[in-house]
Amino acid sequence: MSNLPYEPEFEQAYKELASTLENSTLFQKKPEYRKALQVVSVPERVVQFRVVWEDDNQQVQINRGFRVQFNSALGPYKGGLRFHPSVNLSILKFLGFEQIFKNALTGLNMGGGKGGSDFDPKGKSDNEIRRFCVSFMTELCKHIGADTDVPAGDIGVTGREVGFMFGQYKKIRNSWEGVLTGKGGSWGGSLIRPEATGYGVVYYVEHMIKYATQGKESFAGKRVAISGSGNVAQYAALKVIELGGSVVSLSDSQGALVLKGEEGSFTEEEINTIAAIKVERKQISELANTEAFSSKFKYIPGARPWTNIVGRIDVALPSATQNEVSGDEAKALIAAGCKFIAEGSNMGSTQDAIDVFEADRDTKKSEAIWYAPGKAANAGGVAVSGLEMAQNSARVNWTREEVDSRLKKIMEDCFNNGLATAKEYATPSKGALPSLVAGSNIAGFTKVAEAMKDHGDWW
Ligand code: GLU
Repeated sequence: MSNLPYEPEFEQAYKELASTLENSTLFQKKPEYRKALQVVSVPERVVQFRVVWEDDNQQVQINRGFRVQFNSALGPYKGGLRFHPSVNLSILKFLGFEQIFKNALTGLNMGGGKGGSDFDPKGKSDNEIRRFCVSFMTELCKHIGADTDVPAGDIGVTGREVGFMFGQYKKIRNSWEGVLTGKGGSWGGSLIRPEATGYGVVYYVEHMIKYATQGKESFAGKRVAISGSGNVAQYAALKVIELGGSVVSLSDSQGALVLKGEEGSFTEEEINTIAAIKVERKQISELANTEAFSSKFKYIPGARPWTNIVGRIDVALPSATQNEVSGDEAKALIAAGCKFIAEGSNMGSTQDAIDVFEADRDTKKSEAIWYAPGKAANAGGVAVSGLEMAQNSARVNWTREEVDSRLKKIMEDCFNNGLATAKEYATPSKGALPSLVAGSNIAGFTKVAEAMKDHGDWW
């Protein structure tokens, strides 16, 4: 490994997957898969480019653009674009690597990819964002296409940015095609795509709760701690409320907003207010001081919600960004009574946190916490992107009900697949719940490895 570049986030994602394969019986049963793991962990292609754009003061601004085309065994490269100042090749390789197996778990024909830029949308005008998107797509359009690589949104990229990029692709390539997902409803977007990741996480956790309690419990009455306040967190929160649960926290990169008391919940209206300020790229802190919010919520600057919740936590849904739950925070969640944790974010938990959750699952049995990794729990977003691609190819539009019922079925299959695979290859100790991280990793990996073998990618 010594001649490899220093890529801490990618190494973390690789080791997380590899360790679950190593600790299962997979390599004993199929030693040839070690070779497949070596091959799948190198991207098929990485495109890196310069993005020059003009700010509102007519000054030249320069950013880095990337697209990691990681794996195309199951379909065109598929995965979001992230615009955030932290973006670098290590982060995009970790995201692209996770995306390969996540996309495999949806059961749809999508390969894995990820891209983005170190451009920071915060503090930029709408015109600056448009000019950046146009410049970014001027280069990216040479490398993507409906049957080659289909980007979408991620942190910092919403329907607005997808629109600007779609328009530029169409102008340069003179082609109206499903080259991006997360499009607007009147120009090829799928209904439920904005809601899909958040809804999907909640649908997935419904299955966890049902399985762990033998059908006795549901979201009704559960106190749910959520981090983040972007697309994933907003729709997860709305679905939790719809199902009778209470949302006790939200957050952004500047701080956490938590309920002051042990009773109550964020309301749909409060979530919509937060969603509205996020469109304007504003911080939660601006709301926290208003009378309506300060009487009900406590705002803790610079903090994450996990150790700041007043009272019991039943479910935790990290839905902000990578490494947002540390080992100590994992212990605090367990101490607060949390029984279910599922990631709306990608790699939301550090390896320390996963180790804490997995040890608890194996030793405390029915009293334990149960952990679901992002690549299974948040697969609903990219799954509905896959449904958007299908609708675009067939030139049809499905109803909300049609898309929502397909999403529910995909999340159910994703849960059952991870569960069954864990029972087969990572037998839990007696009385313990199966490891959803091991099961999902093994199920995603074997599907991709088999397709790659058929294609002669390894032998
Ligand atoms: N960025 C999302 C994810 O992490 C969605 C990707 C997509 O729809 O292509 O899965």
